[in-house]
Amino acid sequence: MGGVTNEARRQLVTRRCRVCEWQDERIEAVNADADCPWCHAPTRCVRAVALAERRRPLGLSVHAAALGRRGGLKGGRARAEALPAARRRQIAQMAARARWSRRPKREDAG
Ligand SMILES: [Zn+2]
Repeated sequence: MGGVTNEARRQLVTRRCRVCEWQDERIEAVNADADCPWCHAPTRCVRAVALAERRRPLGLSVHAAALGRRGGLKGGRARAEALPAARRRQIAQMAARARWSRRPKREDAG
């Protein structure tokens, strides 16, 4: 015990105190032992799930997918900002023309 740098093999351990009602999940080395943080009694391992040796967090792919979708959603705006000013004005004029042609003006109709 002590300064053992054995980080290669780790596992998700569910520990339960032998005395009180403490129970927790923690990631620790395979042969690690732990005392109850409440009453310092010895704990027993209820469940142990070996973790993959390669560190590939599951959240990464979800995060990347979210990023990708976010990029897709904001694509229109990003593209509009990337347009040259002349093209942007042209689009704006087309939009304005369409707007006013669809909705007849009241004040200066004539
Ligand atoms: Zn305890």
